[in-house]
Amino acid sequence: MKKDNITILYVEDEQNAREALRRFIERFCKRLYLAENGEEGLQIYKEQNGEIDIVISDIRMPKMNGLDMVAQMKCIRKNQLVIFTTAHIDSEYLFKAIELQVDGYVAKPVDLDKLKVQIEKCIIEIEAKEAQELLRESEERTKVVLETSQLGVFIYKEKFVYVNDIFAQMVGYTKEELYEMDSWALVEDTKKEFIHQTVFKRLRGENFPLVYNDTILIRKDGTPLTCRVNTNTIRYEGGYAGLGTAVDITDLLHTQERLKQLAQAMEQMDEMVRITDKEGYITYVNEALVRHTGYKKSEVIGNTNRLFKSGKHSEAFYRKMYEAILNKESYQATFINAKKSGEIYYEDQVITPILSEEDDTIIYFVSTSKDITESVKMQEKMKALATLDTLTGIKNRYSMNLAIESEIKRSKRYKSSFAIMMFDIDFFKRVNDTYGHDMGDYVLEEFSRVVTANIRDTDIFGRWGGEEFLLLAPNETYDGALILAEKIRKSVELHNFERVGQITISIGFTICDDNADKERLLKRVDEALYEAKERGRNRVVYYECNCAQMC
Ligand code: GH3
Ligand code: MG
Ligand code: MG
Repeated sequence: MKKDNITILYVEDEQNAREALRRFIERFCKRLYLAENGEEGLQIYKEQNGEIDIVISDIRMPKMNGLDMVAQMKCIRKNQLVIFTTAHIDSEYLFKAIELQVDGYVAKPVDLDKLKVQIEKCIIEIEAKEAQELLRESEERTKVVLETSQLGVFIYKEKFVYVNDIFAQMVGYTKEELYEMDSWALVEDTKKEFIHQTVFKRLRGENFPLVYNDTILIRKDGTPLTCRVNTNTIRYEGGYAGLGTAVDITDLLHTQERLKQLAQAMEQMDEMVRITDKEGYITYVNEALVRHTGYKKSEVIGNTNRLFKSGKHSEAFYRKMYEAILNKESYQATFINAKKSGEIYYEDQVITPILSEEDDTIIYFVSTSKDITESVKMQEKMKALATLDTLTGIKNRYSMNLAIESEIKRSKRYKSSFAIMMFDIDFFKRVNDTYGHDMGDYVLEEFSRVVTANIRDTDIFGRWGGEEFLLLAPNETYDGALILAEKIRKSVELHNFERVGQITISIGFTICDDNADKERLLKRVDEALYEAKERGRNRVVYYECNCAQMC
C-alpha cells in the first residue's frame, strides 16, 4: 500500500538499521525524510511545517532521544502519528511512550511485517480523518445551502423529521411545532387524497420525483401559501422518507400576472413596440407593428431592423442613433421606413436601452413608435401651401421674401453678387378682358413653365403677385444677368400661348452687391421695370445706381 501523498520522517542513529529500513519505508510514502538523531529529526519536522504525516523513530539516540523529540513534536501537533522502533523496552520508556499517546511500537530488530502493519494502520487513520473532514465540509455546505437559500426543505415520514428554517417561516410554524404536529394540517383538502397515496408509496421505497407546480399549503394562521413543491424518495435512517423542497411563488405569480397584463396592453395599444436584443435581433413585436408594416410576427422576429430600411437615410443618421443608444442613452427621431409592400412610412420612434441591474450593461433595446405618415404629409402640404403659389406651383411672395433675405446674407458673407429681376406681363389686363379670367390663369401658368425651362436649378423663381414675377440668379454679374433676362424675354415673346398667341413681358433688373438691403433692391427693380414699361414694354432695363445713398 502506497499512499500518494503520505510523508514520513524516519529517525534512526544507527546507520545500518537506517539504510536497511529506508527502502522498505519508501514503499509506503511519497516522500521520506531521514534524520540521525532527535535534534535533527525535530529540525526537519519544524522545517516541514505540519507536512509530516507519520514519524517513525528510534528511542535511544545521541543529542536528543526519540521520546523528547516526539514530546516536542506533539506540542506542535497534538495528533501527530508516531511509531517507535526500539530494543529497549524498559518500563520508564514504555510509560513515557504511553503518556505521549504513541500510535505504534515495533521491537528491534525490526520485523518488517509488523512495521508494515503499524504503518498501514496509521495510513488508514489518515485516510479516515481526511474522509471525515470532507464529510464535515460537505455537511457544512449543505447546511449553509439549506439554511440560507430561499428554498424550504422538509423530510417527512409519517410526520416531519426535518424542516429547515425557511420552510418553517413559509408556513408560519416553529420547527418544534412542525415536528410535533399532524403534517396533514398543511395540506389543502382537495390534495390530501392524492398526497396520501404518494406518501404511502414513498415510505415503501418507491422512487418517483414529483413536481407540484401551484400547490397551496395552509399556513398556521389559515392563510393559503402558493408554492412550487418538488418531492422525491430518499433513504433515511435505514428506511425511506420523502424529501421535499418548496419555493414560495406568490410573488412570481403576481409578477407573471402583471407581465400578462402588460403584454395584453402592449398588444392592444396603437403604438408600435419592438424589443431588440443586444446583438440587434428583434425578439418581440406587438400587434400594432404587424398592422402598420404588413409583416407577420414570424417574419420580423429573429430579423434585424434593417428589414424596415427604406434607403431614405444616410449612414450618418444611423451612426448617430447607434452612438446614442450604445452610450446607454435614449434616442428619438423620425425614421423613414418601408412597409412589407415597399410603401414608405414615417415613424416617430424612441429607442431606449435597457440595462442589467447587476453590471449596468445593455441587455436589450425597447423601441416604441407611432406611424406619423399622415401628419408628416399634412405638414408637407401645409408647408407647400404656405410657401408655394397655388396657381403656378412656383414659390410665392412669402418664399421669395425669405429667398431675397438669405441671398443678401450669402452675398455679404462670400462677398459675391446676385441678380434680381422682376417680370411683368405686358397688357395682361387685355388677356383677361379678351379671353376670360381662366385663360388669364392659363397664361400665368404657362409663363411660369417657360421661365422655369430657361433658368438654372440654382436660380430662384417665384410669383410676386398678380402678373408680376421675381427671379434671383445667385453669383450673377451684370453681363450674365442681362443675357439671362434677354433670353427669358425672347423665349416668352416667341412662345405660342394657346388661343392667346404671343405675349410679351417687361423686365427690370439689378445686381446686388454686398451693401444692399431687401427694400432698396426691390425698389430698384421696380423702378427699372417701370422704366421698361415707359420705354415701350417688351424690353429689359437695368437699374443703374448712380447715387451712393440709394444703394
Ligand atoms: P401693363 O403692361 O402696364 O403691365 O398692363 P397690364 O394690363 O398688365 O397691367 P395691370 O396692372 O393694369 O393689370 C394686371 C391685371 O392682371 C389685372 C388683374 O385682373 C390681372 N390679374 C392679376 N392676378 C391675376 C390672376 O391670378 N389671374 C388672372 N386671370 N388675372 C390676374
Ligand atoms: Mg402689373
Ligand atoms: Mg402687366
